[in-house]
Amino acid sequence: LAQLYVPLSSLGVTYREIKQGLIDLEKMYQILNSQPEVTDHPSAFPLQCQGGEVHFRQVDFSYQRGDRKILHGVEFTIPAGHTVAVVGHSGAGKSTLAKLLFRFYDVESGQILIDGQDIRSVTQASLRQAIAIVPQDTVLFNDTIAHNIAYAKVGASQLEIETAARSAHIHQFIVSLPQAYETMVGERGLKLSGGEKQRIAIARALLKNPEILIFDEATSSLDSRAEQAIQLELDYLVQKKTTLIIAHRLSTVIHAHQILVMDQGRIVERGTHAELLARGESYAALWFAQQNGRYAERDVVAT
Ligand code: ADP
Ligand code: MG
Repeated sequence: LAQLYVPLSSLGVTYREIKQGLIDLEKMYQILNSQPEVTDHPSAFPLQCQGGEVHFRQVDFSYQRGDRKILHGVEFTIPAGHTVAVVGHSGAGKSTLAKLLFRFYDVESGQILIDGQDIRSVTQASLRQAIAIVPQDTVLFNDTIAHNIAYAKVGASQLEIETAARSAHIHQFIVSLPQAYETMVGERGLKLSGGEKQRIAIARALLKNPEILIFDEATSSLDSRAEQAIQLELDYLVQKKTTLIIAHRLSTVIHAHQILVMDQGRIVERGTHAELLARGESYAALWFAQQNGRYAERDVVAT
C-alpha cells in the first residue's frame, strides 16, 4: 500500500477513505489508472465499439517488470455477443485477465484488442465506457441506493434504476426498506450483506448497459437458490453482450459458448461444458468435486 499512497494522495484520496469504503473497485481502477505507466497515448482515439469482440493475443504479464510471470501466452477470443467463462483454482490469474481488459495495467507483451483496436491506442475514458465490471467485492459509496445504482450512468431516470434493480433481484428488498431507494448505504449508512451488495453491483452494471460485461465471481456471495434465480436473469440479459464470466461455481458457466480452464497463468483446457466433461481432465475433476460437494463451495474455484 505504500506504493499506492503517492498517486492516491496526489489526487486527494486517502487510504483511509478507501478503507472506509468510500470508493468502489471501478473507481479504484480509475484512480490507479492515473499511474504514469497507464496513460492515454498522445494520439489516442475513442474506441469504436461494434459489438465488442475481445481478443487476447499472446498476452504475457507480470505485476512488476522482471518479476514472476502471472500470465503466459494467453490467447483467446470472445466473439461479439458471446460468453466466455474462466475457471480455475485461486491464484491462477483469472482476475488479472479482468484487470488487464479494463486496462488497470498494460500487458508486458502481446495485445488486447477490442473490435480490432489495441486497447493501448484508445482513450481510457472510451474504453471504460464500453465495459462494466461486477467485481468480487463491491464497495458501496456512502450515498443512497439509487445513487449507488445510477452512478455509472449520469442522468438515469428512476424507472431505469428500478428496471435494473428488478433484473438484479434487489428491487423487492429495496422497497421493503422504510426509505426505499433513498436509503443511505455504505459504511455510514445501512450495512448490506455481501449478496445484497453484489446485486446492487449487478444492477449498476446492467444500468450502464455497455457492450462488454465482466463478472468476477459476481454471484459468489449469494446462496445457491438466489444465485440460480439471478443466473437465469443474467443468462437472458447477457445474450447480446460480450461477456467474460470468472466463475466460482461451475453451475453458472455450463451455458457459456466457451470455457477456459486456467492454471498458473496458462490456459490448460478450453471447450464447451460437454466437451470438457468428455475430455475427463482438469475441468471434469473440478466439476465432479463440486457435484459431490466434497469441498466447501469456496475451496474449489475461489477468488
Ligand atoms: P485468481 O483471480 O485466479 O485467483 P489473480 O489474477 O487474482 O488470480 O492472481 C494471480 C496471481 O497474481 C496470484 O499469484 C496473485 O498473488 C498475483 N497478484 C494478484 N494481484 C497482484 C498485485 N496487485 N501485485 C502482485 N501480484 C498480484
Ligand atoms: Mg480472482
